[in-house]
Amino acid sequence: MIEVTGLRRAFGDRTVLDGIDFTAERGCVTVVIGPSGSGKTTLLRGLNALDAPDAGQVRIGDAAVDFGALPSGRGEARRAIARLRAQSGMVFQNHNLFPHRTVLQNVTEGPVVVQGHARADAEREAKELLDRVGLAGTEDRFPFQLSGGQQQRVGIARALALHPEIVLFDEPTSALDPELVGEVLAVMKQLASEGWTMVVVTHEIRFARQVADQVLFLDGGVVAERGSAEQVLEHPTQERTQRFLTRIL
Ligand code: ADP
Repeated sequence: MIEVTGLRRAFGDRTVLDGIDFTAERGCVTVVIGPSGSGKTTLLRGLNALDAPDAGQVRIGDAAVDFGALPSGRGEARRAIARLRAQSGMVFQNHNLFPHRTVLQNVTEGPVVVQGHARADAEREAKELLDRVGLAGTEDRFPFQLSGGQQQRVGIARALALHPEIVLFDEPTSALDPELVGEVLAVMKQLASEGWTMVVVTHEIRFARQVADQVLFLDGGVVAERGSAEQVLEHPTQERTQRFLTRIL
């Protein structure tokens, strides 16, 4: 479902992604861990071309982009990137909800405005999604009237409303008060058990142990270690993985 080859990204003279390779099967949960500044967010943003890498290939489902050899026509390149972007839904650290729109409007915005679906259909589906993330009855509220955990679950419903092939999570619980983390992780576990293909950047090692099919340890812009949760978290072979885990556990 996901195939990433030789992904590179530099900001000025600082190389942030230095040749990232990995694959993930359909229905697989990939958890990305690593020190601050190791390139985790840049990798996620590269996967959906929110921030275009300088080189390397990303294939998600049947959309593929070779960032080092984009089509020479601007329109053609833009269409290829748009096709790739449409494969993924993104859940951000700070939910990024529209503050002046209701919960229902936040979830229907993408399907109606970007994808051109009929509003009535989008609203029906949004209500089902809100029910699935435990937010039935909040449709007419505004983001500020919800807790951080509820806002984050609206963010998840909004990502799912776009019918993506994969869902990307960028530290979805790290801005939350500790007592609200569990409700968001519970929704993510539920999505994993429903067979969603997910890439999750997180420091929640317990979640990784319980849910990850594979763990990538990023360090210095490369995948320093990759394997099952058991391999990477319990029996890391690289010293830098061991050092990182000792620091955060
Ligand atoms: P992580 O998510 O692992 O903490 P990031 O991918 O956010 O790492 O960032 C890796 C490095 O890239 C950081 O040093 C950050 O300052 C730098 N960086 C990220 N985005 C930009 C940008 N738009 N411009 C300049 N530097 C950036």
